[in-house]
Amino acid sequence: MGVCYDLHSHSRCSDGALSPAELVRHARACGVDVLALTDHDTTAGIAEARAAARDSGLCLIAGVEISVTWAQRVIHIVGLDIDPRCAGLQAGLAGLRWVRRERARHIADRLARCGIPGALEAAEVYAGAEVIGRNHFARFLVERGYVRDAKRAFKRYLGRGGSCHVASEWAGLAEAVAWIRAAGGIAVVAHPTRYAMSRGVMRRFLEEFTAAGGGGIEVVSGRHDVQQARMLAAYAREFGLCASVGSDFHAPENSWTVPGRLAALPPGCEPVWARWPAAGHADAIPVTV
Ligand code: AMP
Ligand code: MN
Ligand code: MN
Ligand code: MN
Repeated sequence: MGVCYDLHSHSRCSDGALSPAELVRHARACGVDVLALTDHDTTAGIAEARAAARDSGLCLIAGVEISVTWAQRVIHIVGLDIDPRCAGLQAGLAGLRWVRRERARHIADRLARCGIPGALEAAEVYAGAEVIGRNHFARFLVERGYVRDAKRAFKRYLGRGGSCHVASEWAGLAEAVAWIRAAGGIAVVAHPTRYAMSRGVMRRFLEEFTAAGGGGIEVVSGRHDVQQARMLAAYAREFGLCASVGSDFHAPENSWTVPGRLAALPPGCEPVWARWPAAGHADAIPVTV
């Protein structure tokens, strides 16, 4: 049995359903050996996840998922194996959380104008102190019966084209990559098939990403299929990027993402973990390849 990696997951510190410790225990129970916690725009859950990982015999990789604006699109860049104490990274993430709070006020204003009052207060309760996101508004809309499920909340209200969508200016691509590198981490393009890019746009994006010092791309994701993985492996080879795997787990009730339940990397990929110095993690990994 090989080592089971899952290098993209969320806790309640952003828009996941489980606390960092619960997430680690759940991932371990699902067979994950090496887990990256990659909350949106925060590293607040890392310390708790690390402590829980020590107790459950799981190797935790400190991570983050940074919101980026590139060519009028929102792109997510995952940082893996970062040092959360990096001041430059933390200053950048604090700025993004401020953008999130401003956006939340505007979303709530628009919902109120659509006859849906009280959204900010409710979303803030779901969000807690750290990161407020559209998932928290989606939960409010579902629980108050305005829509049947989160998918419809995004389609009708919160997503691009929805009546209460608010566009925000997130981090620049080179800026986000620089924060991750300053923190000693490797920058990885999250769920690349989710951005509806043509091949030409994807190439231009990957050229900029690699020129900025980006190092990896999610080839296997809970959010794409085997054929897409083969296409992404070809991009990884073309641009000299290493390959990552991650479920993008948010909640146990989302049956389509189970921590660690991921296809194998297609042949010819350099896995992201091959670039990690063995001394840093090998002794913490409980299962050998
Ligand atoms: P935010 O970063 O606050 O703009 O929210 C993005 C998050 O919303 C993603 O990470 C997903 O968790 C969730 N999300 C985005 N689009 C959808 C959708 N169509 N249906 C359900 N959840 C979505
Ligand atoms: Mn999310
Ligand atoms: Mn994402
Ligand atoms: Mn994610």
